[in-house]
Parts: sequence; C-alpha cells; structure tokens
Amino acid sequence: ASWIEEFVTSVESGRSPVMASGRHAERFGGQLVLVTGAGSGIGRATALAFAQAGARVVAVDRNAEAAARTAESSRLAGAPEAWAETVDVSDEQAMEKLAETVTTEYGVVDVLVNNAGIGLSGSFFDTTPEDWKKVLDVNLWGVIHGCRLFGRRMAERGQGGHIVNVASAAAYQPSRALPAYSTSKAAVLMLSECLRAELAGQGIGVTAVCPGFVNTAITSTAHFAGVDADEEKRLQQRAARLYGLRNYPPEKVAAAIVRAVVRNAAVVPVTPEARTARWLSRFAPGA
Ligand code: NAD
Repeated sequence: ASWIEEFVTSVESGRSPVMASGRHAERFGGQLVLVTGAGSGIGRATALAFAQAGARVVAVDRNAEAAARTAESSRLAGAPEAWAETVDVSDEQAMEKLAETVTTEYGVVDVLVNNAGIGLSGSFFDTTPEDWKKVLDVNLWGVIHGCRLFGRRMAERGQGGHIVNVASAAAYQPSRALPAYSTSKAAVLMLSECLRAELAGQGIGVTAVCPGFVNTAITSTAHFAGVDADEEKRLQQRAARLYGLRNYPPEKVAAAIVRAVVRNAAVVPVTPEARTARWLSRFAPGA
C-alpha cells in the first residue's frame, strides 16, 4: 500500500502519529483550518492531521478531484465538516473569491496552512524568466495572497489565529540545482518572520515550516522532470545518500505542523538534514 493509504487507514483506526500521542485529539475541535495544496503529499497529510484533531477542514487545491478526495478523507478522519475548493493560489482574483466564500459560508479561518508549492530544478542559467515567474507566482505569490486575504480577516475578527507557511530547508541551504525554488522559499521564510512580528500583538502566530527531503510527488516528479524511471531511481538514491534521507513521510511533517501551531513556534526545520542545515546557517551563512 502507498504511504497515503497506510496513513488514512492508521488515521481511521486511531493509530496515526498525531493521534497516537493523544495530546492533540480534539485540540482543534470546532476550529476552521484551511490548507492549500491539500490534494497531495504534505498538504493532504496536514488536512488529515487537523481533521483527526477535530477541526473543520477546507481542502484547497488546483486539482479538483484531489481536493475532493482529501475533503472526503478528512470527514473519515474525524472532521465534523470538510469542504473542497478548487483554486490556483497564484490567481489573486480566485483567492479573493475563495476568502469571501469561505468566510461567508464556513466562517473566519482559525488556522491557515499555505502549503501549495511547485518544484523546479535547473541551474541558474538554465532557468528561464518564464520558469522564474512560474515558481515565484505559486510559491511566493500564493503565500502572499493567502496571508493578506485570510490574515486580514483573522486580525479584524480579533480572536487570534495561526498562519503556517510551508517553506523549505532550501530557504537557507544554497544549491546550484534549485536557484529559483530556493529563492522562492527564502522569501517565504522572511515573509513569515516579518508577518510574525507584525501580528504578534494580535494573538496571531505565524510559523515557517522548513522540511528537507520528504517522500512526495514533488520529489519524485518535479525535481527529476524529464528523466526516465531508472535515472530517477538512481538520482533519488544519490539524494538519499547525500542527505542521509530515509523516506521521510509527509505525515511526520503534518504532525510537526500541528505541533508548531500548538506551541506557536516561529521557524520549524523538519527532517534531520533540515535541522543541521538550519543550525549551520546561523553560524556560517552561505555554508
Ligand atoms: P506535492 O506535489 O505532493 O503536493 C503539492 C500539492 O499542491 C498538489 O496537490 C498540487 O496540485 C498543489 N498545487 C500546486 N500548485 C498549486 C497551485 N498553484 N494552486 C493550488 N494548488 C497547487 O508536493 P509536497 O511535497 O506535498 O509539497 C507541499 C509543499 O511542501 C510545497 O510548498 C513544497 O515546496 C514544500 N516542500 C516539500 C518538500 C519535499 O521534499 N517534498 C521539501 C520542502 C518543502
């Protein structure tokens, strides 16, 4: 079975990582949690983790079918209510419409997880202006739209809330292979730290979550686009050797996101290599 099938089964039977501790069960009872990019990988696992903690879930993805599947699984996982919304996070007007619809129909969002993102590999000079635009539109502008539209409504309501932006260890780990992606994530990290300072007085927390290499579609397709299956496997094995990666599952990132909200953490490196890189970057920027 794929990790997601195993995860859904474990969630439904109360054996998942979040539930296992029992600490966060019902913690988010009645709260409204919106996750972008909820159709796959980290976003899907995060929607399910909040669902099992009792939250009402809005699963947003540009892939309608995938969003609908996550909403359905969220209900199975324990969300009293769950909805799917099909939106491209880089589309400002569509995001405005989403914020309006969600607020009117389901209420003000308590926890926003800006997770939707795309990968892009290629050296600096192989990356075309169109590539830069594509990656910044989704990875940076998608987060800006989410923070502006939902953050403002949270602040106006005056009852606190939390915003999680999924950045990446690439935000503080320079790489020749991912200049555009890393730049977009570095911007998300700084945006999150600035917004955290701005919203602190209003009881709204902002967290940047920085995963290293996680086993999802983004690492199997986007990063290795254009290579055949054998080559992809070889590259993944090489990445695994390089970073000491052992199939880090997205549900562990989801559990870290839930914990980050509970603890109001500022920056959360997830996966061992992301933690090491974060530590190094404090003392030797650019190392
Ligand atoms: P994934 O490809 O499995 O999931 C991404 C989801 O986002 C998909 O369902 C996709 O349809 C959706 N999406 C993409 N662009 C969208 C858009 N414009 N509007 C709405 N939805 C959109 O990838 P993942 O690994 O789960 O990635 C989730 C986030 O985690 C991304 O921001 C990614 O950069 C970040 N991240 C991933 C890793 C990793 O190793 N997998 C590491 C660090 C950070």
